Amino acid sequence: MRIVLLGAPGAGKGTQCKYIVDKYGLLHLSSGDILRRHRSEGTQLGEKAQSFMDSGALVPDDVIIDMMIDEISRAPKGGYVLDGFPRTVKQAAGLDEALDGKGQGIDAVVNLDVDEEAVVRRITGRRICPKCAAVYHVETLKPKVDNICDKDGVELVQRPDDTAEVVKTRLQNYNEQTAPLVDYYKSRNSVYDIDANGSAEEVKGRVFGILDPLA
Ligand SMILES: [Zn+2]
Repeated sequence: MRIVLLGAPGAGKGTQCKYIVDKYGLLHLSSGDILRRHRSEGTQLGEKAQSFMDSGALVPDDVIIDMMIDEISRAPKGGYVLDGFPRTVKQAAGLDEALDGKGQGIDAVVNLDVDEEAVVRRITGRRICPKCAAVYHVETLKPKVDNICDKDGVELVQRPDDTAEVVKTRLQNYNEQTAPLVDYYKSRNSVYDIDANGSAEEVKGRVFGILDPLA
């Protein structure tokens, strides 16, 4: 099975990815993880990507496409889940071009669909203990004493990435990039829109309901 997993920031993509990979024995190919690995190992590709990032630019589509196709070419026969890639129509087209040549196209595109207001509430309410990394939430997982870690009494903080402004910008960027991507896939692949509201277990049930018949 060759799967593309799409989902807005906060849609629970990482969690569902893990469920899918475990159940169907697939390889998890996260573009973020792979890029970090190239950078930390100082490969040619990693240095190229780093030079763009140092100047504040996005890593160009061509660099990401080459990196991911290299990774896919070494994936086992069982298949894989692509996570964080493709992110643009150009990346998707580049991927298709490489895969179609081998007769190994994408089997399913799973699109996790969430209520964005709920995502904003969940992320912006998150508070972290800077000492022990315990995670709390101002509404759903409160510490016993307001804003103080239960375990060590340290004052909780909000991650810089968890502020409303950052979350809304990320959602907006995602939607601008992904809407055309979903349209692209709908024109040539099976796209499964999955309601990603509710608990991780509930969403997992819906995802497996779609993927079981394909496995
Ligand atoms: Zn703590």
